Amino acid sequence: MIPFSPPRIDDKIVDAVAEALRSGWISTGPRTKLFEEKISQFCGCPKTLCVSSCSAGLELMLRWFGVGPGDEVIVPAYTYAATANVVVHCGAKPVFADAATDFNIDVDKIADLITENTKVIIPVDIAGWPCNYNALNEIVVRKDIREKFSPRSAEQTKLGRILVLADAAHSFGAKYHEKYSGQLADISVFSFHAVKNLTTAEGGAITLNLPLPFNNGEIYKYLCIKSLHGQTKDALAKMQVGNWKYDIVEPGYKMNMTDIQAAMGLVELERYENDHLVRRKQIFDLYSKILGEYDWAQIPEYQNEKSCSSYHVYLLRIRNISETQRDLIMQGIFSREVAVNVHFRPLPMMSYYRNEGYCIGDYPVAFHNFSCVISLPVFYNLTDDQVRTVSKAVIDSVKENK
Ligand SMILES: *Cc1c(COP(=O)(O)O)cnc(C)c1O
Repeated sequence: MIPFSPPRIDDKIVDAVAEALRSGWISTGPRTKLFEEKISQFCGCPKTLCVSSCSAGLELMLRWFGVGPGDEVIVPAYTYAATANVVVHCGAKPVFADAATDFNIDVDKIADLITENTKVIIPVDIAGWPCNYNALNEIVVRKDIREKFSPRSAEQTKLGRILVLADAAHSFGAKYHEKYSGQLADISVFSFHAVKNLTTAEGGAITLNLPLPFNNGEIYKYLCIKSLHGQTKDALAKMQVGNWKYDIVEPGYKMNMTDIQAAMGLVELERYENDHLVRRKQIFDLYSKILGEYDWAQIPEYQNEKSCSSYHVYLLRIRNISETQRDLIMQGIFSREVAVNVHFRPLPMMSYYRNEGYCIGDYPVAFHNFSCVISLPVFYNLTDDQVRTVSKAVIDSVKENK
């Protein structure tokens, strides 16, 4: 069986983790702080906070902005559950926006969804393809939209407009107009979960790019406290002689990254752009070359003059098929010993959101994209021969089932 996306665990990773374990610092410590600095350097953003997951990071930032009951947050209908679940955790209401043909949130549909209660937009760079951030960032500063904004927290008053909080779970290393993901929105949150491009087993990072008068360095310091039970000193600071006493300034969360995770992340980051991403692009190119020969294949866009993907998921669409046919084609691929997937089943189709009254009929593009998509295996150690085997399995199964 060709697997879908196993992590790249080699001696370098194992040695780095063993070294962290032996160092005695197994929770948040020097490796986490170094990883934060390296992420800031890589993304070109002023400040980065590492956390236990992307979900935790998104929720932390919604709470930092003061999002709560009565508020609305615009999220794509086409995404993983984390994007909307964190909004529900805060007591606010997710307002879904339909997808565009590139799978990302349809920016043209956002303005109509904005009300006086809208506090945040969470765009998602699906499959690693950056959203149209120029258009997005223009909407939130538009005069009529600014005038609608009704702040209810100190941070909301300070920003004076809707916050753009990117769910960049897929897009570490992606580029948009010469800028890296992580500096495209006010705040971006990455995921380092085991299936993501760059992994620390579980983990995430928040990159801060808030405009003046915000001080990203000060916010970073505050978030360190907020993500650690509101405790004024972390373990590293408390280690210093005579520095044991701390205060609790608020009932904060427990969302810190460990040095074991950061040890993996440092190795992954070191070889990310010039090695890992290079291989992923080759895999994308080979799929496109082979499958592009067939009229039924709709090849995903992953590079143009403005944008460059992080090559996270290869989203192949099959033209003119129903959801049932897609499922049969997937069965046929599985029976040929190839693991495939679907990213994603739109959230309005999921029981919880359906029971909350959302209806997939309101998101026709999201449904269409979902009904004809198959995600193909992409991982560093996937060989060209395996890419050919996967492609053949797809071609044969389409022939059999379409
Ligand atoms: C994986 C994923 C997340 C959640 O990441 P975690 O680190 O597991 O919390 C959020 N959004 C999207 C789009 C994802 O694919």
